[in-house]
Amino acid sequence: MTPKDLGVTLAKTAGFCPGVKKAIDCVLELAQKGRNPIYTLGPLIHNRQVIATLEEKNIRSIESLSEITSRSGVIVLRAHGITPAFEAEVRAFGMEVVDATCPLVKRVHRVIAEYADKGYDTVIVGDAGHAEVTGLLGYAKGRGVVVSGPEEAAALPEFERVNVVSQTTKEESVFLSAAEKIRARSGDCVISNTICQPTKDRQREIVELSKSVDLMVVVGGKHSANTARLAEICARLCPNAVHVESEDELTAELIRKATRIGITAGASTPSWMTDRVLSRARDMRRTLGQTSRDRLEQAWRIIIYSCAYTALSAVALEYACAGIQNLTLNPLLLWMTGLYVLSMHIVNRAAEKGVGSSDNIKMLLYGTHRKLMLSAGFVAGALALIAAALLGWKVFAVMLTVSLLGLLYPFRHFASKGEDELPGSKDIATALGWAAVTVVIPALFYEIPFSKAELFAALYAALVVFMRSVMLGISSVKTDLIIGKEHLYKAFGDKLTKNILLTLALCVTGLLLALTLHENHSTLAWALLAGNMYTLFCFGAYYFNRIPKTIHAETLVDGQFLVLGLSVFTALHFS
Ligand code: SF4
Repeated sequence: MTPKDLGVTLAKTAGFCPGVKKAIDCVLELAQKGRNPIYTLGPLIHNRQVIATLEEKNIRSIESLSEITSRSGVIVLRAHGITPAFEAEVRAFGMEVVDATCPLVKRVHRVIAEYADKGYDTVIVGDAGHAEVTGLLGYAKGRGVVVSGPEEAAALPEFERVNVVSQTTKEESVFLSAAEKIRARSGDCVISNTICQPTKDRQREIVELSKSVDLMVVVGGKHSANTARLAEICARLCPNAVHVESEDELTAELIRKATRIGITAGASTPSWMTDRVLSRARDMRRTLGQTSRDRLEQAWRIIIYSCAYTALSAVALEYACAGIQNLTLNPLLLWMTGLYVLSMHIVNRAAEKGVGSSDNIKMLLYGTHRKLMLSAGFVAGALALIAAALLGWKVFAVMLTVSLLGLLYPFRHFASKGEDELPGSKDIATALGWAAVTVVIPALFYEIPFSKAELFAALYAALVVFMRSVMLGISSVKTDLIIGKEHLYKAFGDKLTKNILLTLALCVTGLLLALTLHENHSTLAWALLAGNMYTLFCFGAYYFNRIPKTIHAETLVDGQFLVLGLSVFTALHFS
């Protein structure tokens, strides 16, 4: 046991499989385009909180077409796939149909259809009645049969020509022994191992992990077949195995008696849900001997999730930008900026209701005490407006505009009339909001004309805040949070996003290098460049896939503004 992991190991393969990820992205994209209502044929994943989040976006799960009352909207075929006959019925229904069937399931459809066309019987080793298996059977041309394992396979009649395939999430050893039973009693027997690679990787890892721990915790919906299968494998190999849906099912007794704990999750379990169980298990072990370091960490989590750290970072950025504009800031401006950023971030977090959080403290603040946090956000916003009013009507007018835009942003789809969302719109909006309060408002307050220095400061602030927002978006995606193309990373994918970030990082560095040549600003430019080194370090971590998550991401990324503010302060006061 290391002090860091506290004897609790998370499987590397835990979390959404690529097929489920793709299906969720597909419905989110449709929702963002305003193509409501969106119907999925059966739930996309077996997780109540994610389903509730999707329902809020008007994405509903239906069991049959008769549940659709008005023929507007889109029908989505989920990752499991359906029978060709049902697909024909859905397509003839008169609504737009989007196929989100996993390509690896489609491959099995093709394998079954190819041999069925040649006159082979089909045996599917899988769970009869499971949505994927029902879909597979539909491709067997009426000569398909389902067996759960070797016992049922041994009871099958002899086949002249047979193709044996597997449900994509079946346990490999079960499939192979069932296939061998059939081969032994058949003429021409083709064994098509159609278990998908993500499932094989997941199963192999948990076999190793289960043997090395004395408690295995499997996280995922109780109705999820693949999670239940993982739990079965773990129960066979590990002295103690439990299948939980949430961290609340972990008991102190369970955790206390285990020396080493392994955690894994099914293909339809979001990473944030697994992380929450991991975090609770480690917290419980920690409380067995809580240290002052643990108490400090807990206090830091409160500071991060209350958005106080982000607000302080915005104040530091405003201070650095004031250096570029050669302004000595009225402290009320700094308070106003801090309160505005605090308000916007708290309200946004409260709107998410803590869904997708892997942290118990974030859940406590934005789940249990959501209304209280929402009120705190509005109070902070009102105080920012009062500060703005004291600074003059022009400042008040700009602050009121950016506050209203920030609060209305979550409802932008009502105005977009189904048009495609601007990729990265949230990252852009955040960058513009921060640039307005940290640069434009101080310039207005001091009634200085918008010169090159102001333009430079506004561009600089917008670029670094945009990079901040994109990097935090990447961290969110890595925890399977339900976010869409309003985040650049989700819209453009890994490679393009990293190239955009690289270009922006080089632009910012180039701008600052150019500023060092300016004789009135060279000391300040070197200070900004020192801060920029930290930003490049953050970017490097993301670029080379050392992506921090949760509080680590915010600590690292927002820390760039504190480093920046500190280096500007040092340059202005000690040079
Ligand atoms: Fe696709 Fe495999 Fe996931 Fe099934 S388990 S949806 S086949 S990746």
